[in-house]
Amino acid sequence: MPSSSSNIVTYSPAYTIVPTYECFNRCSYCNFRTDPGQSPWLTLAEAEGILQQLQSQNVCEILILSGEVHPHSSRRKAWLQRIYDLCELALKMGFLPHTNAGPLSFEEMQKLKYVNVSMGLMLEQLTPKLLNTVHRHAPSKIPELRLQQLQWAGELQIPFTTGLLLGIGETENDWWETLAAISELHQHYQHIQEVILQPHSPGNQQSFNAQAFDPHKLPEVISKAREILPADIAIQIPPNLLKDENWLLACLDAGARDLGGISPKDEVNPDYPHLQEQTLKAILQPAGWKLVPRLPVYPQFHSWLTKKLAKLLIFFLLPSSFASFAPSRFI
Ligand code: SF4
Repeated sequence: MPSSSSNIVTYSPAYTIVPTYECFNRCSYCNFRTDPGQSPWLTLAEAEGILQQLQSQNVCEILILSGEVHPHSSRRKAWLQRIYDLCELALKMGFLPHTNAGPLSFEEMQKLKYVNVSMGLMLEQLTPKLLNTVHRHAPSKIPELRLQQLQWAGELQIPFTTGLLLGIGETENDWWETLAAISELHQHYQHIQEVILQPHSPGNQQSFNAQAFDPHKLPEVISKAREILPADIAIQIPPNLLKDENWLLACLDAGARDLGGISPKDEVNPDYPHLQEQTLKAILQPAGWKLVPRLPVYPQFHSWLTKKLAKLLIFFLLPSSFASFAPSRFI
């Protein structure tokens, strides 16, 4: 049973908007992508319709999750602009955007900083061995390119989420090396708010033929990650990818404290529906854990936001701003 001072587990009430499923990479474990040209881009009118419906629901974060248009494509500029416009629309309609759209140029990141309260990119694994296997046809998965994103996020003072994908052909040592690299960058820039430990969970669309990551191993990985990562980085686990509630509780006992964005659909793992707030509470409360919603930007980073973004945060932090949402519950 956790002590009352350390029994808080957070999640972000979120909704995922996908500008496009098209992606020029072909990671063999992917259950998200379509080929370039096969997924019409989400229009602003369509997004506005979705966001209007969300205004009466307990949603705070809009996760903008996109497949990638090749950096040298003539459509790249329009793609980034569409992401920017979707973020701006979400802000106008009272939501807080967090974008994860693959590796970006420094200028692209700089542009999106103005319309995002935080951004993210999974490091997955740093070992180059995966470029010969699951990432053979995924130029965006070059480890140096992804590490550079973390560095640029630090230079630009963008609160950042990253993480590891576990069980795609790496070794245990590869986990510790990847975590050590995140830790080192954070010690320099102090910008990583959370690290996701995502177990590989096979889906219907993927060609990668491997078992799901053994959930029995996850608490051990979390404990070691807790030793490697600085204490101000939260460890996030996706509850829908754990086999059962006992493993969720074991992960919390091992040091995980965040359950990520909980939205109607897990777009990356569409075969694994999210557990909703009431279900999670029913699992956590009897074991002494308190589930609390959080914003997509952690409190220590509020001073990094532009004035415009910081103003919007006030609506979520002051009591009675959003009557239906009791925003003072947020941390
Ligand atoms: S995992 Fe991401 S980068 Fe890889 S193919 Fe799927 S959408 Fe593209």
